[in-house]
Amino acid sequence: MPPFPQPFVSTTSHWQATNRGPTSLWNHGRDAPLPASADIVIIGAGITGASLAYHLTREGGAGVGKTVVVLEARDVASGSTGKNGGHIAPAWYTAFASLVRSVEEGGGGCTPEQALEVIFNEQDTLALAQEIVARDKLDVDLWVGEKLEGKAVCGGANAVFTSAAAAKLNDEAYGAFHAALAASPRFAGRDVGWRRISDPEEARRVSRQAHAVATNIGPAGSCHPHRLTTALMRLAINAGVQLFSWAPVLSLRHETGWVLDCGTQGVIRAGQVVAATNAWTRHLFPTEKEGASIGAHITPFRGHAALVVPPPSYAGSAALRHTYSVENGPYLMHTPHAGIVLGVYNSTAVNAGLCGWVDILGVEDDSVVVPALADWLGAYCRRAYEGWGTEGQGEGATRVWSGVLAASADLLPLIGAVRDKPGMWAAAGFHGHGMARILTCTRGLAAQMKTGDWDERLPRVFDITPERLQRARHAAAIPTFQGVGGAVSEIPRL
Ligand SMILES: Cc1cc2nc3c(=O)[nH]c(=O)nc-3n(C[C@H](O)[C@H](O)[C@H](O)COP(=O)(O)OP(=O)(O)OC[C@H]3O[C@@H](n4cnc5c(N)ncnc54)[C@H](O)[C@@H]3O)c2cc1C
Repeated sequence: MPPFPQPFVSTTSHWQATNRGPTSLWNHGRDAPLPASADIVIIGAGITGASLAYHLTREGGAGVGKTVVVLEARDVASGSTGKNGGHIAPAWYTAFASLVRSVEEGGGGCTPEQALEVIFNEQDTLALAQEIVARDKLDVDLWVGEKLEGKAVCGGANAVFTSAAAAKLNDEAYGAFHAALAASPRFAGRDVGWRRISDPEEARRVSRQAHAVATNIGPAGSCHPHRLTTALMRLAINAGVQLFSWAPVLSLRHETGWVLDCGTQGVIRAGQVVAATNAWTRHLFPTEKEGASIGAHITPFRGHAALVVPPPSYAGSAALRHTYSVENGPYLMHTPHAGIVLGVYNSTAVNAGLCGWVDILGVEDDSVVVPALADWLGAYCRRAYEGWGTEGQGEGATRVWSGVLAASADLLPLIGAVRDKPGMWAAAGFHGHGMARILTCTRGLAAQMKTGDWDERLPRVFDITPERLQRARHAAAIPTFQGVGGAVSEIPRL
């Protein structure tokens, strides 16, 4: 059964709540009739659909001079994009171990060289975000600085490292990454832009967290994801793209071209179709939920995040200077004006007994906030940050929400041509790291739609080859993957 129109009212995030004015795109095209046909139809108006529409319509792009239509089941950035942590957080060596682990063991199945390509693609994405924001003068709260980050080699513990065991695994992962880097024909000698702090006193001083024992520091960014998506979509609209909100694609079939049924909104025919539907992709292929298909490759899961208004002890000159990824804790960034946005890792939540996998895996309902997770998010800063102090009325967690992400069976996004479906493309399965990947993925897809060739700036392992889909049938079942000390790990993620 199609998931739209959804039978519930979604929670509202900080980002959705702070971009509602006349320049936003809420309800855009909601009452307009669909055209009978288009050259290219993009399904989904998250950051993937919006940035693809943007790239397609830049000078010389595959969408220039063509009819490009975007169909969105709800509003722009109403999916994962509008609900996320706002963190553009390129991975470093902490992701390497997961990427080179076999798919059967819950990893990405990459060679060391492929893993390096995936990791450095995330740095390229942050650079591209800066380039686009500067070139197009976008007012999207882009911040570029450093994050305090780490991840133990077994994939379970994220750090600012708070245990000696995790800090040791951190050392081993570091060694494996640098050995691969030194041996790499393409990347040897590259300045990775990261440094490590192993002295607990220094880790504590820099992080302002009482239990920190070690940390990695490296390049990261953040932005207002709802405004970024809106800005890119608006530029695409200015270049001729037609956006229809509240136009869910209920089914699609291939005749001489594609025929998309949008229920009461009508039917539209398209020469080319792009699935930018992330967690909902499987519904476009209802008969393919098993086997080697993109529908079977992607599993939806629910995540939670909150906005915390800090007391004056963490405001102004005392505000946080870094973004964070904390072992047994959250990921966290600071907005320029509103406070701190933090999300809880699902491994943290399950291991702490705050919820079960049943509350997370396969869940597409973002109308619900699990109460224990809301409490945990609300208490985190008070608990973790030294000298946080008393929160007055209106400070602390003022908003908590949930959203739906897309786990990919081999941790990697699916980008490119859908081989058994002529004229169909996909960009989906971003596995909790979309903000650090999507701008380059959609640039690459737009280039491929123009030339027919893979964009070599993008890791080849993102390509949707039949072999890849076949191999992922044997991926470790989520969430049997075990992390540090046998604890259930994060849904395999970077
Ligand atoms: C709580 C939370 C925290 C996160 N934190 C981070 C973070 O800090 N950093 C990071 O990099 N990533 C984070 N993510 C993940 C990130 O948000 C996603 O990877 C990214 O937004 C995916 O973008 P997308 O456009 O592909 O998908 P989405 O934003 O989900 O967009 C897909 C769109 O397709 C539409 N759609 C689906 N099916 C149909 C259909 N049949 N017809 C019409 N429209 C359809 C949906 O309504 C939706 O708007 C987080 C996600 C959540 C939920």
